[in-house]
Amino acid sequence: MTSPSSNTNATIQPRSSEDSRMRLLYLVAREFNHSLDLTQTLHRVLIAMVRLVGAQNASVFVFDGQERLIKTVLVREGRVQESPPDSIQAVINEGLAGWVMRQRQSVLSQDVLQDERWYALPRDDDRPRHRSAICVPLLSHNELQGVLTITNAAPAYFDTGDLTLLEAIAEQAATAVRNARLHQVERRRHDVFGALIRVSEQLSSHFNEHELINELLEILIPILPHDQSGFYFWNSNHYLSLYAARNIPNYGELMALQVKLYPDDFAEPILTRYEAVYTNSLQAENSWFKDVADRQCHSWIGVPLIANQRLLGVLTIASHNADTYEAADLELLRIIANQAAVALTNARSLTLLHDAAEQYVRLFEENSDLILVITPDGNIRDVNRKTCQIFRRPKDALVGSNLILLSRNLRDVLESLRDQLNSAQEVTTEVDIKDAYGHEIPVEITAKQISYEGEVAIQWVGRDITVRRELAKMRRDFINMIVHDLRGPVGAMVNAVQMIDFLLTGPEEMFSREETGELTRLAIHSSRFVTDLIDSMLDISKHESGSFPLKVSTTSVDKLLRDAHSQVIPHASSKSITLSFADVSQDTLINLDHHLVRRVIVNLVDNAIKYTPGGGQVVVAVEWSEEHLIVHVSDNGPGIPPDKKQTIFEKFARLRETADIQGVGLGLAFCKIAVEAHQGQIWLESEINKGSTFSFSIPRTLEEQIFDDD
Ligand code: ADP
Repeated sequence: MTSPSSNTNATIQPRSSEDSRMRLLYLVAREFNHSLDLTQTLHRVLIAMVRLVGAQNASVFVFDGQERLIKTVLVREGRVQESPPDSIQAVINEGLAGWVMRQRQSVLSQDVLQDERWYALPRDDDRPRHRSAICVPLLSHNELQGVLTITNAAPAYFDTGDLTLLEAIAEQAATAVRNARLHQVERRRHDVFGALIRVSEQLSSHFNEHELINELLEILIPILPHDQSGFYFWNSNHYLSLYAARNIPNYGELMALQVKLYPDDFAEPILTRYEAVYTNSLQAENSWFKDVADRQCHSWIGVPLIANQRLLGVLTIASHNADTYEAADLELLRIIANQAAVALTNARSLTLLHDAAEQYVRLFEENSDLILVITPDGNIRDVNRKTCQIFRRPKDALVGSNLILLSRNLRDVLESLRDQLNSAQEVTTEVDIKDAYGHEIPVEITAKQISYEGEVAIQWVGRDITVRRELAKMRRDFINMIVHDLRGPVGAMVNAVQMIDFLLTGPEEMFSREETGELTRLAIHSSRFVTDLIDSMLDISKHESGSFPLKVSTTSVDKLLRDAHSQVIPHASSKSITLSFADVSQDTLINLDHHLVRRVIVNLVDNAIKYTPGGGQVVVAVEWSEEHLIVHVSDNGPGIPPDKKQTIFEKFARLRETADIQGVGLGLAFCKIAVEAHQGQIWLESEINKGSTFSFSIPRTLEEQIFDDD
């Protein structure tokens, strides 16, 4: 301890007796030895000093290892002053306490008003509060722990005895402050250690990103002093977006923002160099985070969350107090952020894994193909819903049973493919299996060896190829039918033309005008049949590709019927069918596509002739409603079952009952398309074994519209 010094000439008037000094020393020693709470102890010591030394004001400034003020304990006019005034720092910088700090020397000042080292705080009244003062440094192990000051409003109040006493007290106080600091450091180390264990336990038990981040903000509450906290995600497009927060004003609005930092934002190193950043004077910094934190926050830490060298986000805490944080806090938050980043990555990976597993289960279960996983000797390990549906057995019943119970065919396939499957190839084959109702289902099986729960297994994916087979059959049938349908008329055409050639080029007496005319008409009829069939196919395909233009022109209904009639006569006479066409006056006109409607009538009459047994009757009648022309084509043929009334107009629809009669199944489909293109309707009335009447309507109000030929 330095020797007492006095630099005032005022008379020393000792006020405290030896006895009270001894009592004070005893009391102080007892306080410092028994109490753990430094602030409380200092308060009590100061009050005792005021009482026993006669000081009116007493203060202790406590410093940290870097001589920064960390605590102020004040007794003013005998009473503890809870909140130190803002001007304390000025007293330290410019006043007597500062001088003592720098010089590490005690001062006994008999009249501070004469002492230029004294920094007088502005007061409301003129009466000076301090005249006499003793100010001593708190030194322990050569380190400055603080400064102890007592003052009295009377000049020359203290004597050297008081100074010695204060130095003795300061020595004890210095030791107590140092011990408290060491204890605090120790305790903090212990707290940090405990906190880190808690962080790691709590964070690693969360697999949901949202819960995890909110938990992170909760965990921080007891670990680091702060009033606000926030977590921001760093988006792939290089924006920060607030994801979770505690006590941040306008939190909801901020959540919606995608933020880029200000140019030269002091927090930028978090994003650019992945460094942790802190400040104890946030309001003086250039930063977007200042806007988030609000004006009350002075101390701030921001740390990056980094996983696999990638920035995930930024964790921030902010305190209303100045000088809250130091490098150790930054380090602690960084360690916590690292743990959180690992937990976050794990949570994300787990979510991905979970989603992938769920997706796999969905794909497996909801697949429209049959999927079976079996052991190499045919024991079923897993099946999907479709397999259960086809074999009408619950999963429990199938898993564990043998493939042979499902289908002998499958078992045979397994045997025949065994060698290929062993060589880990993917094998595809077709097999017919029987469902629970005994229906055969053609299935294309793709089998391959897989690893299932660590064991070798074979995965079968079976695709129901009924439709594909039906289509293939349809295609074959269609080609056969077309060939069939075309061969007759084309053959007739060729024959007729050859005959005409023979008649024209042969001897004159062979030539017969009537015969040649009949052959010509036969050739024309046959060629028209062929072109009509081809046209129907083209029209249907045009309709399917979305373009089916009409060539609507004014036409006479009489001409329409006559054209159709002349085309169907040879067919009717070849089957001895009585054909009667309605008589229509020549001047009944209507707007329609003559070519299309003629073909509709021809198709319907041809069908009626084709499906009505020889000797039957076919009648074409015409009816006018207010808005429509209606044409009816009736026969006394086999009739059409009521449940086929609609489907008969679909493409390729044919009745089983008429399968022996040549046909492609396109005629009625064409008729429907052509009539509907005229905004009309086509329908059927029929009675089995009595006959059928096909009717169609064409509106009388169609506008004339002629399209250029393609
Ligand atoms: P196609 O006659 O080439 O088979 P359509 O589309 O013209 O094709 O007719 C479809 C089916 O409707 C025919 O196969 C036949 O089974 C049935 N059908 C059509 N018209 C009649 C009819 N007048 N009497 C009985 N069945 C008919």
